[in-house]
Amino acid sequence: MQEPSKDEAAGVRPGALRSLASKFFLFTAILVFWVVATILTYDLRQDSFDVGKALLLFVIVILVSGAISRFTIRLLARPLGLLQAGITAVRNGRLEPVRVSKTGDEIEFLGESFNRMIEALANSRREIREQQELHELRIKERTAQLEEALRGAQAANRAKSAFLANVSHELRTPMNGVIGMLDMVLANHPPLDQAEELQTAQRCAYSLLALLNEILDLAKIEAGKMTLEKIPFGLRATVEDCIQSQQPKAFQNDVILSSEVSPDVPEQIVGDPLRIRQILSNLLSNAVKFTKDGSTLLRVNSQCSDSGELSLQIVVEDTGAGIPAGQLPFIFDEFTQADGSVSRKYGGTGLGLAITRRLVEIQRGQIRAESELGRGTTIYVTLPYEVSLEESSQAPMLEAVPEERLTGLANLARILIVEDNLVNQKVVTAVLRKRGYTIELANDGMEALSKLEKQEGFDLVLMDVQMPVLDGLETTRRIRQEKRWHGLPIVAMTAHAMNGDRERCLEAGMNGYISKPVHPSHLLNTVDEYLNPRDVAAIAP
Ligand code: ADP
Repeated sequence: MQEPSKDEAAGVRPGALRSLASKFFLFTAILVFWVVATILTYDLRQDSFDVGKALLLFVIVILVSGAISRFTIRLLARPLGLLQAGITAVRNGRLEPVRVSKTGDEIEFLGESFNRMIEALANSRREIREQQELHELRIKERTAQLEEALRGAQAANRAKSAFLANVSHELRTPMNGVIGMLDMVLANHPPLDQAEELQTAQRCAYSLLALLNEILDLAKIEAGKMTLEKIPFGLRATVEDCIQSQQPKAFQNDVILSSEVSPDVPEQIVGDPLRIRQILSNLLSNAVKFTKDGSTLLRVNSQCSDSGELSLQIVVEDTGAGIPAGQLPFIFDEFTQADGSVSRKYGGTGLGLAITRRLVEIQRGQIRAESELGRGTTIYVTLPYEVSLEESSQAPMLEAVPEERLTGLANLARILIVEDNLVNQKVVTAVLRKRGYTIELANDGMEALSKLEKQEGFDLVLMDVQMPVLDGLETTRRIRQEKRWHGLPIVAMTAHAMNGDRERCLEAGMNGYISKPVHPSHLLNTVDEYLNPRDVAAIAP
């Protein structure tokens, strides 16, 4: 649009000589002057020139011109001035009708048309404002609906997490019983045929437990409930452990399983050892599972990016079955297996790589796979890490203590098991008694407090969390309030597997945490660890 001129913008009138009135005045004056001049020239020619007549005629010239000028001002300039004022007002945003002079001519008609235009503009401006208000109202309503939906989704998510915690509790408690009982029966050397059947049952129980753990892990990651630890740890030891735990399966499949950790990987790195272990274990177990009579190699290198960020390059390569090209893009999705025969032939749930991918991603890493059918698969993982400047904060591993010395130590120690579930009581008691510990049982927190009150000399408390009467967290808080029990180790033993449970137990004053179902060797290791390894030295010969 063309910019208004300076004069228009200021709403200024035209200069005095350029106004319509001046122009009409000059035009009329020239015309009448020409008539007067003709008359006077004629008088001069006839020798009848009269000065008085000439003066009179000049006065008439001025009067006529002045009258015409005034008439012009009234007829044209004023109505046009009003119109101009109206236009300026409209331009300044005031959509009000302009004053129109009732001259009954084209100028009045122009003024009326202009007023109709202003009315139309005012109407459309009102409509636009109404539409705007309507839109704002709708946006507000939508926002309120979305906020409501978000609150609903968050509540549903919380309900899902709580449901998972409960399912985990409900499923792990009986699993604890099943696995513990099977362990106990097998430890009593049953006849060979029965032992084989029991071992099959034990394998099934462990794979059910693995599946349960995988589903819980995935749900925890999805609910954003998986928090990462940042502690110094030795990656080489983790790699070695993962390789060792896959060796039996590798041996079964005639697979040569090896690892190479490059010298530039620092001894101690800062990260989440548990999650890195989980990633390595998942990748190695797949590599070994899908390879028959071949090899599997785990390589770990360290790289430094241009921005100075350090990352681990983890490569797991095998010479196994490979993955069909069409399936390769989907192997990191949940419940995806290369084809229907995989689960029949190799077992598995199709969750391992989905969990691995999520675990890599929450650590800001990347994962990808390359594979050739019949020739093998290579999985590449990149994980950022930091170099540790301090010593490892992981709990020191117990030195291998001869069994008989531990039994000697165990004879000295008294353990209070606070647990409401009879099967769990039986399993844990049997495992610990077998080692030589003296066991006392309490069915709930209240009973535990009264046993601690009445009987002196407990060395450790194994505490269930969810119990009737008084739960494990509250019981622990009450124990910690008493100065005399400040040094008493309390280890949580709970089927609560959700994230944050460990923190809740520690906050309540517990020293450690074992999640159910408790594996006998893990239970014994943890108990031995809390019963102070120095005692072991004290009773040593
Ligand atoms: P599963 O529990 O079935 O092993 P994963 O999520 O770990 O589930 O793997 C998904 C699928 O990807 C597997 O079923 C298999 O078809 C394929 N796959 C994963 N790793 C390998 C491998 N190293 N070699 C061949 N196939 C593999």
